[in-house]
Amino acid sequence: MIGPPGAGKGTQAKLLHERFGVPHISTGDMLREAQRNGSLLGQEAKRYIAAGRLVPDDVVIGLVDVRLARPDAAPGFILDGFPRTVHQAEELDRMLARRGQRLRAAVSIVVPEDELVRRLAGRRVCRSCGAMAHVVFDPPATPGVCDRCGGELEQREDDREDTIRRRLEVYAQETAPVIDHYRRMSVLRETAGVGTPEEVFERVVASLG
Ligand code: AMP
Repeated sequence: MIGPPGAGKGTQAKLLHERFGVPHISTGDMLREAQRNGSLLGQEAKRYIAAGRLVPDDVVIGLVDVRLARPDAAPGFILDGFPRTVHQAEELDRMLARRGQRLRAAVSIVVPEDELVRRLAGRRVCRSCGAMAHVVFDPPATPGVCDRCGGELEQREDDREDTIRRRLEVYAQETAPVIDHYRRMSVLRETAGVGTPEEVFERVVASLG
């Protein structure tokens, strides 16, 4: 799944996981988990994430390599938020070739920039269960409280307005070229990311054939 922050990669990857049963591998989730555990990796990653910058390639490539080696990823997997640079994409190609696997589809989710900012600035995440809410588009029954588990809803530290702008710049400079990489490999599936999550999901599934 490839697309700018706020495009709905995580939402769509989760729906694909539910429909097809293959693991959802999100480098953002893995890095946030490392932060929560207080590991050295998490402490290192925190500086970059909070600033809206990319964590160094070697760090995320290493994480993905270890994750893809787990048996549940052998029949297939959904990558969400990786690769984010052309170097990561090339390393992924090598990693998969070593395992006799190949990337079948790169789903690019396309959303206008003003819509991305609206989505990210209002996004809230449950501290306990990770469920998402939005102050305008999907407000919880009680403000600040997760509908699913009653946990506390918080704003991701990188969803603040100045950091959102930085992340969009980083996307344009570093990640947008990855789309050309996959276009050249003839695996790119471009999908409009506007509408309800379910509407987008039907488009994503149709694009996968
Ligand atoms: P995400 O949850 O995918 O929006 O990722 C949150 C943050 O984690 C990003 O803004 C980056 O700082 C970091 N991150 C996640 N995936 C990668 C990646 N593939 N390469 C570098 N940094 C990443």
